[in-house]
Amino acid sequence: MKKILSLSLFSLCATIALAEQVSTTGPDGRLRLQCSVEGGRAAYSITYDGKQMVTDSPLGFTADAGNFQDGLQYVKADSGVSQSGTYSLTRIKANQVSYAYNRLVVTVKNAKGHNYDIEFRVGNNDVALRYNLPAWGNFPNGQKMSIRILEERTSFTLPRQATSFLTPQSNAMIGWKGTKPSYEEEYNYDAPLSKPSAYGKGYTFPALFRVGNDGWVLLSETDVDSRYCASRLSEVQDASRFQITFPMPGENNGNGTSEPAMSLPNTTPWRTITVGKTLKPIVETTVMWDHVEPRYEPTQNYRFGKSTWSWIVWQDNSINYNDLKEFIDLAHTMGYPYSLIDCAWDVNLGKEKMEQLVRYGKSRGVDLFLWYSSSGWWNDITQSPINIMSNGIKRKQAMRWLQQIGVKGIKVDFFGGDKQETMRLYEDILSDANDHGLMVIFHGCTLPRGWERMYPNFVGAEAVLASENVFFTQAAADNEARATATHPFIRNTVASMDWGGSFLNRTINKGNDPTRNGSKRRTTDVHELAQAVLFQSPVQNFAITPENLNPVEQNGAPRITLDFMRDVPTTWKQTRFVEGYPGEYIALERVSEDNVLYLAATNAGREAKTLKLTPTGIQKGQKVLVYSDNKKTQEPELHEVVYKGKPIQVSLATGGGAVLVVR
Ligand code: CA
Repeated sequence: MKKILSLSLFSLCATIALAEQVSTTGPDGRLRLQCSVEGGRAAYSITYDGKQMVTDSPLGFTADAGNFQDGLQYVKADSGVSQSGTYSLTRIKANQVSYAYNRLVVTVKNAKGHNYDIEFRVGNNDVALRYNLPAWGNFPNGQKMSIRILEERTSFTLPRQATSFLTPQSNAMIGWKGTKPSYEEEYNYDAPLSKPSAYGKGYTFPALFRVGNDGWVLLSETDVDSRYCASRLSEVQDASRFQITFPMPGENNGNGTSEPAMSLPNTTPWRTITVGKTLKPIVETTVMWDHVEPRYEPTQNYRFGKSTWSWIVWQDNSINYNDLKEFIDLAHTMGYPYSLIDCAWDVNLGKEKMEQLVRYGKSRGVDLFLWYSSSGWWNDITQSPINIMSNGIKRKQAMRWLQQIGVKGIKVDFFGGDKQETMRLYEDILSDANDHGLMVIFHGCTLPRGWERMYPNFVGAEAVLASENVFFTQAAADNEARATATHPFIRNTVASMDWGGSFLNRTINKGNDPTRNGSKRRTTDVHELAQAVLFQSPVQNFAITPENLNPVEQNGAPRITLDFMRDVPTTWKQTRFVEGYPGEYIALERVSEDNVLYLAATNAGREAKTLKLTPTGIQKGQKVLVYSDNKKTQEPELHEVVYKGKPIQVSLATGGGAVLVVR
């Protein structure tokens, strides 16, 4: 027996059917979600313009409280009302976000009669789904007030012809000093779904798929806080299905459980599916923030902006008073409000000297971020300070001191994985830091999942094979243009990303000295400028160096690049995808809060690429600053052109870029 009911009929129909299919669409009707309860199992599927984008995908879970994935019966469905509204988002993509979605809640019950809701929110290009669990009565003797989820069946089944752009989960406790997993792995590009992952441990969010010529699908999750673990995707199952998978037992040095536990009633995190005919909805999505709420009020009006960072090129040896002072002076000269002080400052300077450095910074209008290790017992990191952020008592003592001396933020590095135990640590650090007026950057960490809105002092996170690798290996330097053309579509579209880039050194060493060892940058200068627009974190720790201020003949950077790096904003009013393909090229437009439009493009292809670009809303006669590659060198060129009604043609060198600026 199979009945297909439209939602409008629901109120009229009895709830005795054994098999049900219910569906809803996004507000514009193009994205359709269908949920079925059949043969004791719940599943969903998604179409866009009638094309199958996610096929029959199982739902449900098992818990200490019973089996909630088999023997399910349909109870009822509630289409609710459409929801829409706006909210402000101060640190990624846009400053005001409008959202609209239709809600579908399907209630099922298991063989023991315990019910739960499968909640879907369907926008024009995004589906968010989660489970809402009640506190069941008489279970078995009194009310059930807590639950431990043992496994989720929640899956994402792609059409078989889909190809993937995925990054693998690593094994636990491997890599440098046992600091993995840390979301610092390579991507596959257009890989068949059948391809096994590098470690055999599945994939981390976000995950991008191309469904032939029908469109694109981006999977991620949001609303993850101390009540749950961060999840990942399994290896491919049944040829094209990826299943929600909990952290590996070995993460966090074996401490803490893989399975999350929650009080009841409660909800699981949102899993998100962004769907588009083109990549535009993928690059512009705000689904990560549309369905989460701030967890606390900010204690300050946190101020974002640019920062210098001595460690990224000058490395460990730069953590001394004089070098750090040089980077504070660099920040001052560039008009940057911040400088980031990396590891071992506690040993190399000590507290008293640090207080002096903070005072020096303030005299130059530059505030500091200080580095801490998160560990602890979950890796073999010796870079200090260690054993402070892992302990609530010591953490709050340290934060009191930081607040007293006027430090504005911390960078906490080397976390232990994705278990609920570690999610609790992230949240505790953020919440304690807010109590002490501190912003927080995470490195060596998980993907932030909605945190730009959930935690008002959260700034950004690494969770990417970041710019430090360009320093470490020539292979990463050779691959940099590809990375620039990858992350706006995947990693950086779901969360702010502390890449730490825009190198103006062409040899990545102290002094920008071509005669000494150091990775050779393969990108043009304009590529690095475009990267400052394409990659976003509200506090950008740029890789510029004091030697960039030298005259060009003394290995300094061209004046054009320095002026650009002085002006470029770190927060934006609007973000618009223009064109591109993951790993090949990208053109993206952002508008600053004072209405300056930046249209940035980069090329990772082996050939030069010509783009015809029209800044949104431009009028005939308006002036456009065009930053473009010199045909023969890494040098930038800057021209002012008057818009005459035709697209502006730019040629991007291999590893090159272009930026159009309209004031
Ligand atoms: Ca790192």
